[in-house]
Amino acid sequence: MPSSDSGTVHIIGAGLAGLAAAVRLTAQGRRVVVHEATGQPGGRCRSYYDHVTGMVIDNGSHLLLSGNHAARAYLKAIGAEHLLEGPPSAEFEFIDLATTKRWTVRFNDGQIPWWIFDKSRRVPDTKVRDYLGLMRLMFTSGDRPLSELMRCEGPLYDRLLEPLFLAALNIEPLHGSGKLAGQIIRETLALGGQACRPLIAPGGIGDAFIAPALRTLREQGVEVTLQHPLHALELENGRVRALDFGEETIALGDGDSVILAVPAFIATAMVPGLSAPTAFRSIVNAHFRVDPPAGSPRMIGVVNGTTEWIFALPGRVAVTVSDAGELVDAPRAEVAQTIWNEVAKVLGLSDTLPPWQIVRERRATFAATPEENAKRPGAVTQWRNLVLAGDWTDTGLPATIEGAVRSGHRAAELIAGEGRSKQAA
Ligand SMILES: Cc1cc2nc3c(=O)[nH]c(=O)nc-3n(C[C@H](O)[C@H](O)[C@H](O)COP(=O)(O)OP(=O)(O)OC[C@H]3O[C@@H](n4cnc5c(N)ncnc54)[C@H](O)[C@@H]3O)c2cc1C
Repeated sequence: MPSSDSGTVHIIGAGLAGLAAAVRLTAQGRRVVVHEATGQPGGRCRSYYDHVTGMVIDNGSHLLLSGNHAARAYLKAIGAEHLLEGPPSAEFEFIDLATTKRWTVRFNDGQIPWWIFDKSRRVPDTKVRDYLGLMRLMFTSGDRPLSELMRCEGPLYDRLLEPLFLAALNIEPLHGSGKLAGQIIRETLALGGQACRPLIAPGGIGDAFIAPALRTLREQGVEVTLQHPLHALELENGRVRALDFGEETIALGDGDSVILAVPAFIATAMVPGLSAPTAFRSIVNAHFRVDPPAGSPRMIGVVNGTTEWIFALPGRVAVTVSDAGELVDAPRAEVAQTIWNEVAKVLGLSDTLPPWQIVRERRATFAATPEENAKRPGAVTQWRNLVLAGDWTDTGLPATIEGAVRSGHRAAELIAGEGRSKQAA
C-alpha cells in the first residue's frame, strides 16, 4: 500500500463510504479526486425534491444511535453534528396495532442496566430473566441465525427485539446473523442508554450527511465529479495501472491509489475473484405531506402492522418498512393506502389519504444472514494500490451508515499507510 503523500487518491463512488474516506484523507492533506456515476452524490443516503408531494424527501428515513461513533465523528468533521436530533435519554415508543396497546421502553443512561429491573421502564409483561438471552448473544462465538441463538418469541422479542433487529439488520431477524446482532448489542445496549439515543436528521439526510461533506471537500479544493462512472479497473503487475471511464482513461502514477467505494454488485464485476454478498433485501419508504398532530412522538415503532417505524416531522410523516418482501412489487397506490390507514390510526388522523410518495429500494442492503456475512471481504486487496470500502465490506456491522463510514475511514487509514495492523476505527 503506498504511503507516499504525493500521489492522488481516486475515490470511486460518492456514497457515505467514499465521502467519509475523502473527508478523512483531505483533512490529512492528501490529493483526492472523487468520481461518482450518477448525477447526485449520496448513493443510498440521499434527499431529493419530489414533485408529487412538493417536498424534499429522503430515499429512506435514516436512524442513527448515539453510539454510532464513526458516523458522529464524520458529521463533526463536516460541521454537521448539530443537524441530528434526538431525545436527551434513550426512549422508544411502540404501539401494537392488533391490540392498540402502547408502551415506552426507557433505558437508563449508565452501563448497569437497571431499566431491566424497573417494570415502568422495561417491556411490558417481561421478566428480568427474559433479558439474559441478550447476554448470551453478546458472547456467542461463530455465526448462526438468531433463531438458533435466542428465544425468538414472547413479549421481549415481539415488543422490542424483533423491531430493533429488523431495523438494524434489514432482514427478518429469525434468519439474521447472530454475530451481527451481537455486535449491535455490544455497541449500543451494553454500553447503556447514552449509546442508544435515537438520532434522526429532521431537515433531511442530504442536508446532514451529504451537502456539508461536499462543502467541506470543495473548500479543500476537492471536486466530486458527477456522472463519471468507472467502467473498469486496468490491473497489471499487482496494481491498478489505469482507470477506464469509457471515453477517458486515467493512467495512475507510482504513488496514486484507488478506493473502490461502489456497491457489492458493481465491485464484483470490476475486481477479479472478489468474494462479496450476492443476496440483498429491500426497504420501502412512504412519505405523506401532512401535519402530524401536536405532541406526536417523533418516532414510534409499530408491531403487528405493515408499517414498522413512523417518523412524525414538521409538515410530513415518513414510514419505513424494512425487508419489505412482496410489498416492493405491490401497486404503489395500494401500498400508500395500506400504510396510511395504519398511520392515521396511530397518530389519530383522518383516513383521507394526503399527498404521498412511495420509494422502493430493491437492493437497500445485503441480506444480513450468516452465509452472506461470511462472504464480506476485508478492505485490503491483492492489488497494492487498491482498497475496498462500502457497507458490504467486512466492517463487523450490518449495512448501516455507521458501517459505511467506518469502511471509508478504514480505507483512508490503509491509504495513509497506518491501517494494516489496526482494526476499523
Ligand atoms: C431505504 C434505506 C433506508 C436505510 N436506513 C438506514 C438507517 O435507518 N440507518 C442506517 O444506519 N443505515 C440505513 N440504510 C443503509 C445506509 O444508507 C447505507 O448503509 C449507506 O448509505 C451505504 O453507503 P455506501 O457508501 O457503502 O454505499 P452507496 O450508498 O451504495 O454508495 C455507492 C456509490 O457508488 C456509486 N457508484 C456505483 N457504481 C459506480 C461506478 N461504476 N463509478 C462511480 N461510482 C459508482 C453509486 O452511485 C453510489 O453513489 C438505509 C438504506 C436504504 C436504502
